[in-house]
Amino acid sequence: MRLIEYLFPCQCIICSKVGEHICPRCLKGLPHTLPICCVCKKLSNKGVTHSHCSNLNITYFTGWYLSKKMSNIFEQNIHKGIWSIHLTLLTILITYLRIGNLVKECRIFPLPSNSINTFKLNRFLSKSLKGGEDNKNILLVGERLENIQGVEEVIRGLAISPLNIYILCLFVTN
Ligand SMILES: [Zn+2]
Ligand SMILES: [Zn+2]
Repeated sequence: MRLIEYLFPCQCIICSKVGEHICPRCLKGLPHTLPICCVCKKLSNKGVTHSHCSNLNITYFTGWYLSKKMSNIFEQNIHKGIWSIHLTLLTILITYLRIGNLVKECRIFPLPSNSINTFKLNRFLSKSLKGGEDNKNILLVGERLENIQGVEEVIRGLAISPLNIYILCLFVTN
């Protein structure tokens, strides 16, 4: 346990109920996302990028829609360095999407971010997952996707072009 989490006892960030970072009731209140294209954010079958949106064939896995208000609540936790809730949500999401095996078959990278705090969180989330260095697929993990250019840069920086590209992020802001 990190010191900061020792000082602030575990309670639901939405309703303040003590015991969990987000209680089951509040978690149910967050709407699950539909499969969308990571470039235009419009609906797309299985979350695959539309061919007219990018040359890259990316599968976009997303978790929940966040309202502005919810987004601010989560943002405050990132600034305080409290990441346990994001880790909990990541685990829930992987189970919900049934992509546990897919994750293991990927090299894992953090999603780039313009904010240092968010990037640190993304790095923490990506390190929490077990991938493999020799895998031909890549998975970028993070809190949310800020822009596709950052992802394109990561892909360009790789020694070999990946077989499949996946993005896994917790939130889509609406
Ligand atoms: Zn709650
Ligand atoms: Zn699109």
